[in-house]
Amino acid sequence: MASIVLKDIVKEYGDGFHAVKGVSLEIADGEFVILVGPSGCGKSTLLRMIVGLEDITAGDLEIAGKRVNDKAPRDRNLAMVFQNYALYPHLTVFENIAFPLRLAKGKFSDDEVRRRVEKAADTLELREHLERKPANLSGGQRQRVAMGRAIVRQADAFLFDEPLSNLDAKLRGQMRTEIARMQRRLGTTTVYVTHDQTEAMTLGDRVAVLRRGELQQVASPRGLYEQP
Ligand code: ADP
Ligand code: ADP
Repeated sequence: MASIVLKDIVKEYGDGFHAVKGVSLEIADGEFVILVGPSGCGKSTLLRMIVGLEDITAGDLEIAGKRVNDKAPRDRNLAMVFQNYALYPHLTVFENIAFPLRLAKGKFSDDEVRRRVEKAADTLELREHLERKPANLSGGQRQRVAMGRAIVRQADAFLFDEPLSNLDAKLRGQMRTEIARMQRRLGTTTVYVTHDQTEAMTLGDRVAVLRRGELQQVASPRGLYEQP
């Protein structure tokens, strides 16, 4: 777990366009922050800079108290959870969860992989499903497998990029509950990007509202409605 601190973060794309115009935000260890705003306001750009998939033009990004602007994604120890879960259909739940550990070739023994996957599966209540394939799981179980893949790496933080936007309303509601429950149970620092007002108002500890590359407001969900 780790704090994430953004200090006056700027993103200028090659064509001179400023997608993020000086964003400062302190996310505490274990906090769940929702980043919300209309399409094109810079949410994904900001998330991608935190993960390290996009260069930071100016400003400082600190994770667990260390400046990481120049660190490669693999050295930031963050886990991104994608929209479509990105599960491998031909692999079992066990191997889907183990995947990030297998990628780090030789770093984790088979015993260590088994230990970590089983621990994650216990946390996520997937223990009975480890030998199944994703096609034989419910939407909620698939979401948990995607989370399992994030937690076996013992990442310092989770980053969600509109993970529910492809789902129908009913499943989306279930998934919201699952994600909130898992985050509370794990206590892992989480940044969750969405353009969905309901998600913004129900999921997080704080909501950061982004508009045209600038933070307009940062408040608790309840505080958003109160006049300053
Ligand atoms: P959001 O996630 O809030 O929809 P993005 O971060 O994807 O917004 O995009 C913010 C702005 O930056 C948009 O105006 C978008 O067109 C622009 N943008 C995104 N990626 C690039 C890029 N690679 N080159 C130039 N402009 C980009
Ligand atoms: P390479 O081509 O050098 O293997 P990758 O782009 O595949 O680089 O990523 C290298 C490492 O960066 C991965 O092992 C992973 O830890 C991290 N990484 C890449 N993309 C993401 C992401 N979306 N979220 C979190 N970490 C990522």
